[in-house]
Order: sequence, then structure tokens, then C-alpha cells
Amino acid sequence: MVIRATGAALLALTIRGRAGRWYGAPVALRDNNISRLQNGSFDVLIVGGGINGAVSAAVLAGRGASVALIDRGDFAAFTSQESSNLVWGGFKYLENYELMLVRKLCVSRNRLMTAYPDNIKELPFLASLDETSPYAPWFSALGALAYWGIGSFRTHHPRLLGAARVKAEEPAINTTTVRGAIEYRDAYLKDNDARFVFSFVRSAIEAGGTVANYVSLTSAERVDGRWRVRLRDEETGDEFTANAKILINAAGPFVDGLNSSWGLRTEHRVVYSKGIHLIVPRLTTRVHERVLAFFDDTQRLFYVIPMGTRSVIGTTDTRVDDPFTPIDDDDREFLLEQINKRLDLPRPLTVDDILAERSGVRPLVVASDGDNRTDVDWTSLSRKHEIEVERDAQAITIFGGKLTDCLNVGEEVAEAVESLGLPLEPDLRNWYGEPTAETRTEFYRQARRMKLDDLRDKPDVEPLSDRLWRRYGRRAFSMLEAIREDPTMGREIMGSTDYLRVELHLAASTEMITRLEDFMRRRSKIEQVVSDSDIRDSTGLREVAEILFGDRAEEKLDEYHASRPGLR
Ligand SMILES: Cc1cc2nc3c(=O)[nH]c(=O)nc-3n(C[C@H](O)[C@H](O)[C@H](O)COP(=O)(O)OP(=O)(O)OC[C@H]3O[C@@H](n4cnc5c(N)ncnc54)[C@H](O)[C@@H]3O)c2cc1C
Repeated sequence: MVIRATGAALLALTIRGRAGRWYGAPVALRDNNISRLQNGSFDVLIVGGGINGAVSAAVLAGRGASVALIDRGDFAAFTSQESSNLVWGGFKYLENYELMLVRKLCVSRNRLMTAYPDNIKELPFLASLDETSPYAPWFSALGALAYWGIGSFRTHHPRLLGAARVKAEEPAINTTTVRGAIEYRDAYLKDNDARFVFSFVRSAIEAGGTVANYVSLTSAERVDGRWRVRLRDEETGDEFTANAKILINAAGPFVDGLNSSWGLRTEHRVVYSKGIHLIVPRLTTRVHERVLAFFDDTQRLFYVIPMGTRSVIGTTDTRVDDPFTPIDDDDREFLLEQINKRLDLPRPLTVDDILAERSGVRPLVVASDGDNRTDVDWTSLSRKHEIEVERDAQAITIFGGKLTDCLNVGEEVAEAVESLGLPLEPDLRNWYGEPTAETRTEFYRQARRMKLDDLRDKPDVEPLSDRLWRRYGRRAFSMLEAIREDPTMGREIMGSTDYLRVELHLAASTEMITRLEDFMRRRSKIEQVVSDSDIRDSTGLREVAEILFGDRAEEKLDEYHASRPGLR
């Protein structure tokens, strides 16, 4: 990846104020971007900062367009923070004979694994099969071999295992009725989906894009051959206008509502499939990091996915009409019952074991005139995406998609923008991916020289050098420097959360954290892996707020507590 940094990013990395303040002022990044939005004139304005909007902003800004990206909440705070964190070709879509989709997703997975060797890791999926499973182990093994081939043999080869071997390798599995298992490989995001989305937002910022969270688009109209949009800063209530040649609708589950408010008629629309996950203390051995897969009682695959010292159980696939669908008791009971049947645990899991939950709707794309909601096999609806271009209106809509397919979405959006007459610079593919191997080697050399990994001696946590490099890439160099000059920067800030003071300082100036939840839930995954009681009792939470928000710490803490009554 080509190293690139704009003046703004370099400035943020080099500003030094009073002792301990190595980075730019908290919230200045967002304020600056809001000022640029006000009465701003752009080539492209993107509505929606989930994965589809973020990747579009990254590619277009990286290829020289003047781009604005807004989201009415935080980046990735809707569907894109509720995924299974898997980067995969979709083995299960072979059931529906969607060979082209599986091939496309496998190619995307392979590209992402190559571009993000430290963030996206290959992982075995151990799928246990019993008498009630729809396929015999030998048949599933053939499917796994085919899947391996469709994925260009990029991963480790699949395996067929007998029940005894399954028990030996993963004692948590109840093998009483298991006939055998297959193990195939895919990949997962080692941190979290929302942080991955933010890496594209960062890339757009570094390439000069104008980006702001908590900004809603309230209306849009065509005036003199351009889009004039009305925007509202949800933090202050201020309203202002901006204009753009091209409008991109990347509002995920909300694309149809926006299109109709602009008077756009499209060939596609989205329907919703609800999926939930439960996060519980780790259920599987930590010797081998792997995903466990089972068929549930409805013959649908569900998974136990590792997340550090936790396990994520999910997901479900329920048709819903409303994109705002919180988890209900039936969802919880269903997943707990399914997992308790399939694992040999010291005692059954109950709702008291649930540390956190995730619930989202998949925006699935269907033809506008099809799917009358009764004649469609729900779970067989395709997970592919569609990009529609409205030439007269100079508008582009992204329907559906997956995190895994994000590079394709970015490239197709760039093509669509060019087809509307906006020339882009050649694609140097520098809008995504981790820094080069040489930069990585240099980081590890510096980290070794200052004995970074000796700063912590906690059991069961990954080396600091791995974590800082994976999460911050090039930005991690400035962290080493900050720790060398002020060793308190290398200390943990909230006991059970594993975060260093220096990370908070960097986040405050470069990660557009507007509300405390943005850090606790999305830039980090603290809310997903630490219990509410531990967060509440943490002595460091106040300091976290002080670093992130300076004088506004108290107000932001109150806002956070009000949004999570369980924390009081
Ligand atoms: C349960 C579940 C599991 C999944 N697992 C995986 C997986 O393991 N791997 C994988 O590859 N994919 C997975 N997916 C699919 C993937 O998560 C989604 O396809 C993807 O996140 C959709 O992203 P998006 O950008 O289209 O939508 P979103 O992330 O919903 O983004 C749309 C954004 O638009 C904003 N917005 C809407 N209206 C406005 C407005 N008027 N003004 C400003 N902003 C607005 C919203 O606030 C929102 O943030 C999963 C999905 C679900 C639900």
C-alpha cells in the first residue's frame, strides 16, 4: 500500500501540547469537517456511513474526487456493527446453488485476506453433523472440497472427522448423536466489523474527504443540474446546505425511503432479515482458535465464533418489516436452547450468562415488482448486492451487500461515478489494505528495541505490539514515540478492558469520537466483551471521557449513562 497522509492527518500526528498530550485536540476533527460541509460544494455526497458508504468514500477520495460522507448516527452504528464478523465465501449459499455468488465472495475474501494479513485471519470452521442434519458427513466433505476449489485453494485444505476426533479436538461439543464433522476454512475480522468500517472512513479522511458522523440528510432536490441537500448536525441541531454533482444513497436498510423522498423510482428495493447474536464467556478451547458450526432445529446453520475471551453465538434469519428490531425473549430462548443441545457444558447457558447482544437486519435486495412477501422462500433470498445508476438524476443507490464484498462495491461505485461523467484518477488500490511488509518490519523492530511487549504481563492477552500494529497500522509509530517519552502513556486505562492511555489520546484526535458510545462500542469492542457491571465499576471510565472530550467529559459521561440505564 502506498503511504499517504494529508496535511490534516500529519498535523494530528505531530501536534504536542502539554505533557501527555501528543495528539490534536479532542473533537476538532469533526468540527473542522462540519465547517467544510457547510455550504460546501462536492463532486459526490454519500449518505450513510456503514460499510457501503465508507468504502465508496475511500475509493472516490483515493481516486481524486471531492467527496462528502455523512451518517445520521455514528459510522457503522446500524447494520454494519451487528454482523458475525466473518469474511467468507458463503459455504452455506452452495445449498441454494449460488455458485457465481460464492465464487465472487471467495475471490473478495481472498483479496481481503491478502490486503489485511493482520486484521483478517484465516480460521477453521468445524461443522458437526448428526442424524437430523440435512447432509451426511461424506456428502458435506465433497461440498467442502468443492468450496475449497471455488476459493482457488487459497486456504488450508478441508478435513473430514469422525465423532471421536471431534470430541478430542473440541471437548465442548456434545458428540452423543454426532455422526461426523467437516472442517473447512474461511476468515474473520480479529477486531470488529465497526472498526473495519472505520478504517475506510479514515482512508477517506486521509485522502482529503469531508466526513462527519451525527449529520442527517433531511432533504435533497435537483437545482440547476446539481443536488442541493439540507443537512442537520444532530449534536447541535444546526441546519445547513451543501451541494454535489452526484448523490450516492448508501443508507442500507433505509435506501428505499430516501429514494422515494427524492422521487426516484428504482428497479430494486430491500426487504429485511433479522439476525441476532449473543455474547457469552468463552465456550471453546483456546488452544485452537476455530468457529463451531451446527444445524439448528430448523436446519439452518448457526455458529459459535471466537471473540478473544468471549464466544459469539449466532445468528438467526427472521423476516421482519421494521429495520428497528431489538432482540426479544423468543430470540434469546431459541439460541440458548439450540446451543445447550449441542454443547457439553458444566451447566446449561442461561440469560444470566449473556454479556452483550447484537441485533440487526440484513438489507436483502429484491426486484421492485417482485417478492410480494408470500411467494418467496425467505432464507433462499440472495445475499448479492445491486448498484443502480439513475443517469438523469445523477444518483447511485447501493442495495444489499456484505462486509466481505466491500472492495467490489467500492470498485463498482467508482465505475458508476465515471459512467455519470465524473473522471477519476487511475486506481492505484491505495485506498484499502494494511501498510507494506517493510513498514511492518520497522514497527516490530522499534517495538522490540523498546521492549514494548514487557509493559504487560497479563495472562491470555495478545502481545501489545501485535495489537497496536493491527489496530493502528502506521499511526502506531507515533504511539511508540509517545510511550518512549512518557511511560504513563503505556499504562492501561480501564483495568478489565485492555486499553492503553496512548490509544485514547490517538483516538481522541483521529477517530471522530463524538459520543462515549462511539469508542466503547465501535472504535473498541469494550461494550461487547466487558460486562455492564465491570464498566460501571471501572475507575478509568472518567479518565477515558476526559481524554476523549476534554472540558465536556462530564456531559458526555451523563449522556452515556442515560443511554445505558443498566450502567447506573
Ligand atoms: C446479523 C447479521 C450478520 C451478518 N454477518 C455478516 C458477516 O459475517 N459477513 C459479512 O460479510 N456480512 C455480514 N452481514 C451483512 C453486512 O453486515 C451488511 O450487509 C452490511 O453491514 C450493510 O452495510 P450498509 O452500509 O449497506 O448499511 P448500514 O451499515 O446499515 O449503513 C447505512 C447507514 O445509513 C445511515 N443513514 C440512513 N439514513 C440516513 C440519513 N437520512 N442521513 C444520514 N445517514 C443515514 C444509517 O445511520 C446507517 O449507519 C451480516 C448482517 C447481519 C444483519
